[in-house]
Amino acid sequence: MARTVFILGAGASRHTGAPLMNDFLDKAEDLLWEKKLEHNEELFRKVFEAIAKLRGIYAKTNLSMDNIEDVFSIFEMSKTLSKLGDLSPEKIEELYNSIKVFIAVTLEETILFDSGQSNPGYQPTSDYLAFALLLKDLEKIHKKRDSKLRSSIITFNYDLALELSLHNQTINYKYCLSDEVAEQGYPILKLHGSLNWGRCKYCKKTGFNDVFGNNYRYSLGSKIPFQGHPEDIICKNCNKMIGEKEPDIIPPSWNKITTSANIKNVWKKAAEELHEAKEIVVIGYSLPETDLFFKYLFALGTDSSTRIEKFIVCDPDPKVGEKFSKLLGKGITNRFKYVEYDFNHAIGELKVLFNIDDSLARLEAMSTL
Ligand SMILES: [Zn+2]
Repeated sequence: MARTVFILGAGASRHTGAPLMNDFLDKAEDLLWEKKLEHNEELFRKVFEAIAKLRGIYAKTNLSMDNIEDVFSIFEMSKTLSKLGDLSPEKIEELYNSIKVFIAVTLEETILFDSGQSNPGYQPTSDYLAFALLLKDLEKIHKKRDSKLRSSIITFNYDLALELSLHNQTINYKYCLSDEVAEQGYPILKLHGSLNWGRCKYCKKTGFNDVFGNNYRYSLGSKIPFQGHPEDIICKNCNKMIGEKEPDIIPPSWNKITTSANIKNVWKKAAEELHEAKEIVVIGYSLPETDLFFKYLFALGTDSSTRIEKFIVCDPDPKVGEKFSKLLGKGITNRFKYVEYDFNHAIGELKVLFNIDDSLARLEAMSTL
């Protein structure tokens, strides 16, 4: 049962070097000019050509062709309607798949980790490590109250920096792609998919590669295999290799009809977790206009008799605090707290707001009695 639900957005992964949505295309273009793309160069060129075309088509609207989320959303809509300039439906489908690889490669090239020379294996970033430790502390406090209480994490990020920190701290997690209850660990609900997820060519179900698990072999270097090679995932349903090389990721737009049943399961779980939550903490999620879906999910999820005790929003931009305070119903406003900090500083502040040190000291004192 979820007591504390964390909602993480792009701002949480910013410190890893991952571009934000509005500078994503600039970083991707740098990779092209710096000749870092090898066999993906052609794919990047095609995506940029398509974006240039979109600029002409959407010149009359206020959609921004500089924002990767808008661009990804338009590609998805074009695929649904089979319409994008003079392109054939096959070309549109190809472009839609290309942009997923484009996003995955850009993240893989910009997020660098210490490969841990003396201690083989990738090291998490200090911020995500601090977050993993906060989860552990909260776990001890929750368990003392009620053995069924725990935290859960809803995230909009495609990258795997969070998973790496949990793996490093031997914290189990589960993606909740299916209803199977056998899975143990913290729910990590990736509402927009993940770079290590793939959609089966045959049955259309979503599976994942356990990138940091013992069975996954990756070569050491400064880069992490963020793409998780979806084509190698064994589909649990058909027992065959998934076969699609692009990751199962989706844009934040309203159109989520074409999404797999498994990702829908993740949303259902997210609504359930919000429903039970006593404490909700939002870090680095700016509630973009394009993500109407989240607003509705949030409204449905929090429409319960559970009394929310804390609603904390951490973001260096005060406008984000204002947006959330408007979104919240009157009943919660006096439990709302805006923290004008980035991820790194937010963890320290959260420890204070959750009274972690005192609670742990009390637990310690009780155990020595
Ligand atoms: Zn399958």
